[in-house]
Amino acid sequence: MKPPICAICYKEFLDSDEGGLIYFKKRKSDEKWESAMRKEGLVGHPPYAEWFCVDHYNAAKELKDLPINEAMSKLREKFPTN
Ligand SMILES: [Zn+2]
Repeated sequence: MKPPICAICYKEFLDSDEGGLIYFKKRKSDEKWESAMRKEGLVGHPPYAEWFCVDHYNAAKELKDLPINEAMSKLREKFPTN
């Protein structure tokens, strides 16, 4: 797993109440990643999951039925970071 850093504002949080991990809709490439990892018996940070701080968690959760690339571009539009 990646360290918990918000994918929008890059805020790092050490406590789980400061944010959470969101799993987005899996793309074809994510299914492939998953079966490759399973075959190798490896564990890693899923390419379709990201951490979000409390400020961005709810907005990200609303988009979790989208693939991560689409959700992230919508979130970046909604929360522009300079
Ligand atoms: Zn954030």
